[in-house]
Amino acid sequence: MLSTSDPEISKLLKSELERQKKTLGLIASENYCSMAVLQAQGSVLSNKYSEGYPKKRYYAGNQFVDDVETIAIERAKRLFGAEHANVQPHAGAIANLAAYVALLELGDKLMTLSLAQGGHLTHGSPVNFSGKWYKIIHYELDPETSMLNYDSIEKLAKEQKPKAILCGYTAYPRTIDFKRFREIADSSGALMIADMAHIAGLVAGGAHPSPVPYADVVTSTTHKTLRGPRGAFILSKEKHAKSVDKALFPGIQGGPFDHSIAAKAVCFGEAMKLEFKDYAIQIVKNAKALANELMGLGYDLVSGGTDNHLMLVDLTRKGVSGKDAQDALEKAGIILNKNMVPKDTRSPFITSGLRIGTPVLTTRGMKEGEMKDVARLIDRVLTNIGDAGTITKVKTEVVELCERFPAYKEL
Ligand SMILES: *Cc1c(COP(=O)(O)O)cnc(C)c1O
Repeated sequence: MLSTSDPEISKLLKSELERQKKTLGLIASENYCSMAVLQAQGSVLSNKYSEGYPKKRYYAGNQFVDDVETIAIERAKRLFGAEHANVQPHAGAIANLAAYVALLELGDKLMTLSLAQGGHLTHGSPVNFSGKWYKIIHYELDPETSMLNYDSIEKLAKEQKPKAILCGYTAYPRTIDFKRFREIADSSGALMIADMAHIAGLVAGGAHPSPVPYADVVTSTTHKTLRGPRGAFILSKEKHAKSVDKALFPGIQGGPFDHSIAAKAVCFGEAMKLEFKDYAIQIVKNAKALANELMGLGYDLVSGGTDNHLMLVDLTRKGVSGKDAQDALEKAGIILNKNMVPKDTRSPFITSGLRIGTPVLTTRGMKEGEMKDVARLIDRVLTNIGDAGTITKVKTEVVELCERFPAYKEL
């Protein structure tokens, strides 16, 4: 229908589908969701207004929408073992805003890891609401290991006495000890917020420890490792349920995106299946295989490896900037993002590193053997940077690999 009513947009959607089919997606925050998720998200639920929560709506006509949201809530609670779930946040950034509004007053002290060290914009970046409205104290990664140093975080927390401590990151390749964060929060009289946006799929599949038993509030996206629609949700202890719900609506958002909530319910349902456990475990196996092959080829990995779905490559010794590496790889059909590395001397627009993630390739069915091939393809581009012949040859091999592991066969 779109191709006749709006050929201009239709053509672009087809081109984007082709791009997703024929390139290697290594952006750690992306995934390819199922046809079922796409269908729910592209449904007539998009037409409904349902401000409020199930059975407490402002408009009529919500009998089906109420059931959809109730199912999404129940599935989220069951999947993660949570006391309370709110499935309405439009995005991860909004979920974090809601968590802060629920737990903090303006100007309260919030302790986080900075964007430059692997945190998210909403973890107190000065250009973000979080950095403007709250007093941000940053803890640091250990300068030697580039890993979390819980003893030094505890020391800082005891000195600073923040209202809340946030853990969970955007570019941190190692396991997070949520139990230890709870102890740190308790020892300094702070609340604990865990942002599992990146690792939610690993948590759901048992491939990373869960923050849910420990954190006061857990925020997450649905579209990263969890492989659902674009969107987010918040889990909390029962004692914070009312303040979380009120913070989000009417505090921040208007009408919920009912089509997204239906797609979130589908995604939670998929994540409860046994196959999803295998998927989550394979994501980590693939990341380890890719990391080991890259290290074997002489690349420096921040913290010396990975425990989760992503790794950070420090290109300093290679003499290539993150931006030049990203651009050359994109020409060869390898899609990833430049990233700051600890002690980076370049600006955030250039950087000295790359962030590489395995959720998309794992969704396509690739395993450890293909990860070795992917590492070698990356290496060929980076060691012959600027050589058009290499890029052409690698691009052909990328397309061949993609065709062996097709995405969206139905489309
Ligand atoms: C991606 C991400 C977010 C924000 O998600 P959006 O949906 O892009 O707003 C928040 N926190 C962390 C740790 C993230 O990685």
